Amino acid sequence: MKGKSAIITGSNSGIGLGVARELARVGADVVLNSFTDREEDHALAADIAAEFGVSARYIAADMSQGDQCRALIEEAGGCDVLVNNAGIQHVAPIDEFPTEKWDAIIAINMNSAFHTTAAALPHMRKRGWGRVINIASAHGLTASPYKAAYVAAKHGVVGMTKTVALETAEEPITCNAICPGYVLTPLVEAQIPDTMEKYNMGREEVIKKVMLERQPSREFATVEQLGGTVAFLASDAAAQITGTTISVDGGWTAL
Ligand code: NAD
Repeated sequence: MKGKSAIITGSNSGIGLGVARELARVGADVVLNSFTDREEDHALAADIAAEFGVSARYIAADMSQGDQCRALIEEAGGCDVLVNNAGIQHVAPIDEFPTEKWDAIIAINMNSAFHTTAAALPHMRKRGWGRVINIASAHGLTASPYKAAYVAAKHGVVGMTKTVALETAEEPITCNAICPGYVLTPLVEAQIPDTMEKYNMGREEVIKKVMLERQPSREFATVEQLGGTVAFLASDAAAQITGTTISVDGGWTAL
């Protein structure tokens, strides 16, 4: 991917950071993002630049704000690969779901991908090449109770993915969504101690019987595997793959 540049939204931790590291490892220049503007955010980019010998920047922009989504793309000078990854979660029954949580999830998990894609496509067209890769979820294809906003947003992202693919079908641009099951990110790791206490179980039992109950492999996906899937979709081997979803879910959606 030498000579190509990638913007990864929500990439100061978890899957986004794993994706940024993998794209840098295969030679892409990368732009990291989140809504914070701390020294340690910029240090993440500096570390990637030093480790992989690529150019890496961190640009703060709040993906809940449409104008900031578009400003991120412009400040980066466009990109060849856009990875829409920023996302949050809130769990509650629909009749108790706080409106502000609903709005935030729809804005960050779905609307941001509209704004960044709309801003990035003209740059990709000028460059004559592009890849839009949306990190959706198994919840973009199936549902769970108490996750109405998340499931709605992720289904929306999968729908938008198909539409963008059709609008760019005759161009050297593709648009796909990756649908992970449970991925071991710091966010998920942090839930393990509480769940162990709640169920009075050991770490392995909690992981296999409670957390990965719907994931037939009983294994978490890893951020490295997500990074590898993004790198594959960005490669020439994937030039005819567009408008589809790739599940990285240990068989969740096969059930
Ligand atoms: P995470 O919390 O580690 O990462 C989320 C990232 O989004 C962070 O970098 C965070 O700073 C950023 N972010 C949050 N709000 C933002 C905002 N307003 N503006 C800009 N950035 C913002 O979680 P993760 O597990 O790495 O999740 C990344 C993506 O993968 C999300 O879209 C999530 O829905 C999806 N996903 C995760 C899993 C999983 O099991 N971890 C499974 C399926 C899908």
